[in-house]
Amino acid sequence: MSASPPAATARTSALHGTPVVPGVAYAPALVVRGEVSAEAIARFDGSAYDEERALAAYDEAAEAVAEGFARRADKASDAAAEVLTASAGLARDKGLRSAVRKHLRSGDDVLAAVHAGVEQFVQVFSSMGGLMAERVTDLRDIERRVVAHLVGEPEPGVQMPEEPAVLVAEDLAPSDTATLDPAVIVALVTERGGPTSHTAIIARQLAIPCVVGTAGAMSLTAGAPVLVDGVAGTVESSPDPDTARKLVEADRAEREALVSWGGPGETADGTRVKILANVADGESARGAASGPVEGVGLFRTELCFLNRSDEPSSEEQASIYGEVLAPFSERYVVVRTLDAGSDKPVAFATHEGEENPALGVRGLRLSFGNPDLLVRQLDGIAAAARTTGTETWVMAPMVATVAEASEFASAVRARGLKPGVMVEVPSAALLAHRMLEVVDFLSIGTNDLTQYTMAADRMATDLAHLTDAWQPAVLQLIAITAEAGRQSGKPVGVCGEAAADPLLACVLVGMGITSLSMASAAVRPVGARLAGVSMDTCEDAAEAALSASDPMAARDAVRRVLGG
Ligand code: PEP
Ligand code: MG
Repeated sequence: MSASPPAATARTSALHGTPVVPGVAYAPALVVRGEVSAEAIARFDGSAYDEERALAAYDEAAEAVAEGFARRADKASDAAAEVLTASAGLARDKGLRSAVRKHLRSGDDVLAAVHAGVEQFVQVFSSMGGLMAERVTDLRDIERRVVAHLVGEPEPGVQMPEEPAVLVAEDLAPSDTATLDPAVIVALVTERGGPTSHTAIIARQLAIPCVVGTAGAMSLTAGAPVLVDGVAGTVESSPDPDTARKLVEADRAEREALVSWGGPGETADGTRVKILANVADGESARGAASGPVEGVGLFRTELCFLNRSDEPSSEEQASIYGEVLAPFSERYVVVRTLDAGSDKPVAFATHEGEENPALGVRGLRLSFGNPDLLVRQLDGIAAAARTTGTETWVMAPMVATVAEASEFASAVRARGLKPGVMVEVPSAALLAHRMLEVVDFLSIGTNDLTQYTMAADRMATDLAHLTDAWQPAVLQLIAITAEAGRQSGKPVGVCGEAAADPLLACVLVGMGITSLSMASAAVRPVGARLAGVSMDTCEDAAEAALSASDPMAARDAVRRVLGG
């Protein structure tokens, strides 16, 4: 890594990407290349190794990689340490070693055998479904590191700098993001990846300004200072230093003001907007409860069961849900029923071997062939609501028809709870007014609504320009849904990642959205942004966004309206 500032101060035109975490940063670029150099691989002579020596070389390399992960785990905080320990375990995995040995036996040289062995595991993890995709990134990361040891190169990936730097990479592996220190890495810029990519999610949690999907990022000069604007989505190489420092200072002052925001959510002229938290379990609920939120807008119940092979009984479910409801006994919690399938495989619910899981039997659809799954879950939720006394709303994911919404609503009302549905499928948005005749509230899942509107896989890093909630077609569907809420007088919230974008939050409120639910780290930036604008300005911002021709133009137009 070279992070020394260059002499050149000539300005270059800015690169553009998708802004995912607001904030301005100015520091030398730390350009991380994820690959082992092609020259080193070409120089390596695998034919000099017989099978036994090749396996010994693999063992030594895999152990060195595992030890590196374990050393970093020792210095890392809880969640990061878990990720790194898991990576160390995978590098030492006996099954992976056997796969490598099998390929050595069949005559591959050591590099080819490592590649084929890893590939075999990649196939297995890929066929298990979406969330396992992160393990695939881990596997490829391990392969690169093992290969680096074999050919005598330093391991690729992020080596933490001593001085503040902007981290620039094609995309980041989970093991890279696990130890990011926001005091040193002042911004993240990736060439690939979209708003729901792993890099974006981690950056949001750590509140590090971040721009993803930035074409040309990897051609930035290592060590040259860059100015990153996580609101505009721009990355400028060698800007005027005085101007850059002033922009960073203004951003710092603005961010300090955010910390003092203490809710409740409202516009400058007093229109109330509920600011809510997205949670996954008791621990995250307790963390969120200490912040200025009026409740939980999305409890993703399936995340409690990703490691379970058997379905928990209603009683056990009640105690798991109770952990989330209890910290909010004076507020309220929106519980989402199991959204298993596609990117969230749950062993006891997900259908195996679907051709196209994102368009298959996922979410509420799982209850069509297995109604008792939903019955047991609703019983568990109702019991937790009774025990904790927490006001509990219940919504279903992946609802496509009014009949589905109606049937779900009856089952929820029969248990004394408030029913709603998520708007994630374009058909639900187009029929929002009819959905609201049968349910008490709607919650827009902009992650899936964007995926299904644009026919672009939310995990596909090459389609980041399409998987963007600022796309005009997505905004239109949100506006239709919000308007249906206005006319019926019933609440319509947003609980996808779009709610965590302070700029887009103003647009959503201008459309008539009544609540915004997001990761805890986004609560203050969104709340403070809304507090600074009037409802009229939000409505103007909504109009500007809806009239724009593409996401970039929409962001620019909204920034002009909001004056920042
Ligand atoms: C969404 O799709 O926007 C949503 C909130 O659900 P998830 O991200 O859990 O699919
Ligand atoms: Mg969803």
